[in-house]
Amino acid sequence: MQNEISTLLADLKEQVLYLQELGAKNFNVDLPEVQNSKFKVQNSKSEIPQEKLERFVPTDFNLPNIESAGPTIPTVENSSTRQSLFESTKLSRLPILPKRNSYPTNQVKELVRESEMPKILTEETPTLFGEITQTLPESNETIEEIRLDIGNCVRCPLHEGRTKIVHSTGNLKADLIFVGEAPGANEDAEGVPFVGRAGQLLNKIIESIGLKREDVFVGNVNRCRPPGNRTPTQAEANVCKQFLLREIAVVRPKVIVVLGNTATQNLLETKIGITKLRGEFQDYFGVKVMPTFHPAYLLRDPSKKRETWEDMKKVRDYINAI
Ligand code: URA
Repeated sequence: MQNEISTLLADLKEQVLYLQELGAKNFNVDLPEVQNSKFKVQNSKSEIPQEKLERFVPTDFNLPNIESAGPTIPTVENSSTRQSLFESTKLSRLPILPKRNSYPTNQVKELVRESEMPKILTEETPTLFGEITQTLPESNETIEEIRLDIGNCVRCPLHEGRTKIVHSTGNLKADLIFVGEAPGANEDAEGVPFVGRAGQLLNKIIESIGLKREDVFVGNVNRCRPPGNRTPTQAEANVCKQFLLREIAVVRPKVIVVLGNTATQNLLETKIGITKLRGEFQDYFGVKVMPTFHPAYLLRDPSKKRETWEDMKKVRDYINAI
């Protein structure tokens, strides 16, 4: 019986820590360290004041008085009785949260939970000549499912300063995807990528190759605006870009244009700079990638527009040829 109660308290403590991590503010419950060997049922009430327990239990929920709970809790006879104890004490009415590690709250924001994010899986495809190339497999999810997964994201510290999450937008059957770095002030306010001055220039770049903004798909490595428009850290980019990579697997474009250093280096997983890489097609699991200058850079140095125009002509010609 003591073990069962210890286990329930340990679960409860873990769930409270999880709720705190999720941002619940009124969960200042100092549950005791639960150690089976030391835990004494008769001590439990004094260690967990009832009024503290009531703060995280729904108001219509009557937590059994642990000291006098004996008669109402069925006798524990084997390990499967945890379930019946759970049901009989109405603890089953507490929300069930997935089991996870709890972290000191000051560390949570620094966590890069890459392990929780599905990686883009690739397939090895033999070519006619016997080489093995990696290709994107068909995705079995939808953009809506990816949005749901993103939810009200707090996976990285950038969520703290955002007004709106800026999801990718555009044609889900696009031949062409543009990838930028992260939202600026206008995008943060509207929740749409590339709507500010750089976005106006991007629209002109798209039109310069005979397409309209609605024809293409546009997204960013990061979906929340970094403070002062700084470059996202690698940890921030690693967390967020997984969603973009999943979207790329859904849309399956012919070409991805990566705009500037952050987009190029994150998609191609390279440290080489945009000045070296621009203008030559690269490969992302069988999809052509064209690195070119970011429109914000072109606004600062319009003389570089000519190079971007050359890059975009290559993109246009490739798309038209296949
Ligand atoms: N710059 C970007 O990289 N992305 C945007 O959405 C806007 C500006």
